[in-house]
Amino acid sequence: MPAGSSKLLNRASTAPDSAEWIDGFLFVGNRPILDLVNTKPILAKGPTELLPDFHAVERWLIASGTITSAKAKNRLRTWRHSPQAEAFRKQLITFRERLRDTILRIENGSAPSDDFVKDLNSRLLRHPLPTALRRVDGQLVREPLFDPCELADLWAPFVNAAAELLSETNTTRIRQCEGCIVHFFDTSKKGSRRWCSMNICGNKVKVAAYQRRKRERPSRPKSR
Ligand SMILES: [Zn+2]
Repeated sequence: MPAGSSKLLNRASTAPDSAEWIDGFLFVGNRPILDLVNTKPILAKGPTELLPDFHAVERWLIASGTITSAKAKNRLRTWRHSPQAEAFRKQLITFRERLRDTILRIENGSAPSDDFVKDLNSRLLRHPLPTALRRVDGQLVREPLFDPCELADLWAPFVNAAAELLSETNTTRIRQCEGCIVHFFDTSKKGSRRWCSMNICGNKVKVAAYQRRKRERPSRPKSR
């Protein structure tokens, strides 16, 4: 990992099928920044906004492991009902939708737009993510040091993870599920992952294909 970059929202998650839903949010993207894009899924009742208020943003930050310390959780709570919190949420939704457009472009083989890169660059300048060295089993590892003191600091993990996703990974591994609108980063050995999750879409698509084959198969004459 290059110096100074963040794994905060880009760290690989554990087994793909483990804990797909955490506190009402879907985590199947292998990159939490993609799971942010997936916070407007199509559920039984149609497209559903999973971040309808700042409290939901707070819950997502905790569910994704972005906010872990009790101190930071307390700060989030004190910001919850401020007008700035709602303004932040609205801007985050706008950013999420622009990131979604960018992801769709990449999946279609195009590069991110200059406008998006310019916007991201200006946010990276304004919201740097400090890092610190920590000893793990005698080895020094460089980790993001995310301690938001004010609301605007919450941008740091989002914009740094987005920049990392667009610049440091094999972008051909960014894909959309064949059965729904969810995006994921394919970490499978063969690079052949097709679904957001076997539980959610994999089985659904397989059953539909089976039924289609069954319908198309000419029925055998009945023996008497
Ligand atoms: Zn799916």
